[in-house]
Amino acid sequence: MTSSTGNLLGPDHTADSPDRAILWAHSRRIPSMTALHVFTRDLRTHDNPGLLAAAPDVVPVFVADPAAERLHGSRNRQAHLVESVRDLDANLRALGASLVYRSGPWLDTVLDIASEADADEIHIARDVSGFAQRRLAALEERSPVPVVAHDSITVIPPDAVSPSTSGDFYQVFTPYHRKWLAEEWRPLAGQPDELSGHDVGSDDLPDPVDGGSSERVEGGETRARLDMDRWIPRSRRYGKVRDDLAADATSKLSAALHFGTISPLEVALRADEAGGEAFVRQIAWRDFYAQVLYHRPESSYEDYRGGDLAWNDDPDALEAWKQGMTGYPIVDAGMRQLRATGWMHNRARMIVASFLTKDLMIDWRLGARHFLDWLTDGDIANNQMGWQWVAGTGTDTNPTRIFNPTLQSERYDGAGDYIRRWVPELADVGDDEIHDPGPLTRSAAGYPLPIVDHHEAIRDFKEARGFG
Ligand code: FAD
Repeated sequence: MTSSTGNLLGPDHTADSPDRAILWAHSRRIPSMTALHVFTRDLRTHDNPGLLAAAPDVVPVFVADPAAERLHGSRNRQAHLVESVRDLDANLRALGASLVYRSGPWLDTVLDIASEADADEIHIARDVSGFAQRRLAALEERSPVPVVAHDSITVIPPDAVSPSTSGDFYQVFTPYHRKWLAEEWRPLAGQPDELSGHDVGSDDLPDPVDGGSSERVEGGETRARLDMDRWIPRSRRYGKVRDDLAADATSKLSAALHFGTISPLEVALRADEAGGEAFVRQIAWRDFYAQVLYHRPESSYEDYRGGDLAWNDDPDALEAWKQGMTGYPIVDAGMRQLRATGWMHNRARMIVASFLTKDLMIDWRLGARHFLDWLTDGDIANNQMGWQWVAGTGTDTNPTRIFNPTLQSERYDGAGDYIRRWVPELADVGDDEIHDPGPLTRSAAGYPLPIVDHHEAIRDFKEARGFG
């Protein structure tokens, strides 16, 4: 952490004052040059090194690529993305240049715009998935003008640190976290003062998208910055309350971080200064998974370790899980929260993922796919690696990690408020039964019996996996 403790946002690092990054960025550009900044998932004007390096004579571009939508799309993310793009255009206009928005094959469209603008350079944020890495490589290969890739999607670049002895990236979080904290973080890039206009044509901005989850978080830098400002003072208590399922005590900044409407560096610096070290540690987990995916992009669909595991083919059980009808109240609460809000509490994500991969022994990829269909924060690195962590196929070496849903429920939703909120048919069930209602209570409430017995299921799981 550069500015390590103390004055993290001191005079050299405020969003408005020139700092080393800004001076460096500007010194690289000849004033009369025109540059494209191609937004991908860095949909912000604050702390965006690529935008700043391209300023002031910048053509800001966003290309909606049907291929990317097919790969990563979900109604919630589409809706959030459209809101973010519209808000970005408004923020850019306030600085002097509108967004050039086009639909079409990404690479050809970017190159067309660069040629129409007579651009001398193309700036873009470097990203970590296989898809994004191939896309950048293709752009670098075909672009007639220099392509400058900036590290702004994570706090430190995905190849910034490596273990001295074993390989080129970290597979274990704790030593990574230590290095991450000791690493020199880049200074914040300020928001450009003013952008010069341009006359490159744009399609109409996309219309807001209907449907998806009714309680989905709204997209866009404006809203995300307000949410960040509100969160920072609360981040101090995060370590104590983050696991309380009903408390609403986490930041809910995940979608903003995924789409880059806020900067992970800015939020980490500010939270650190506010005493939110436990929260900053979670931002380090985000960087950790990003560097794993960057170096091993195939781990988005292949077991990171293990491989060739047998999984159950049980469409009815999978469907009961997806619908929040497993008969385990805490599992069903999580799964219903996902549909209603496009978000799920981290503790619930672990519980429901363990239930699918251990109790039902269903392939983690099917669970990860369902999450990506609904999560507004759905993120290839965090989601796929989070699933692998729970499934026991991931970077860490604990394949027998098992969550007992009822014990987790008693521990992290002691009063049952989370269950009562998301499984309304159990709203009137008493405290003594809320975590595991008896058969008569279930029948009266119209709530199903458990689809498996946890202890039997785990015995079968261990036997199948050879853990005895
Ligand atoms: P906070 O607790 O406030 O944390 C702050 C930020 O740190 C988060 O917004 C996120 O960017 C990052 N973060 C927190 N926990 C983790 C973690 N374990 N791994 C990586 N980054 C983390 N997170 C996603 O952003 N997208 C996903 O698709 C996703 N899928 C997951 C699937 C499973 C099975 C599991 C177990 C976890 C998954 N996570 C995912 C991680 C975590 O659950 C969410 O980031 C978190 O719940 C988002 O809520 P928040 O913003 O309030 O988080």
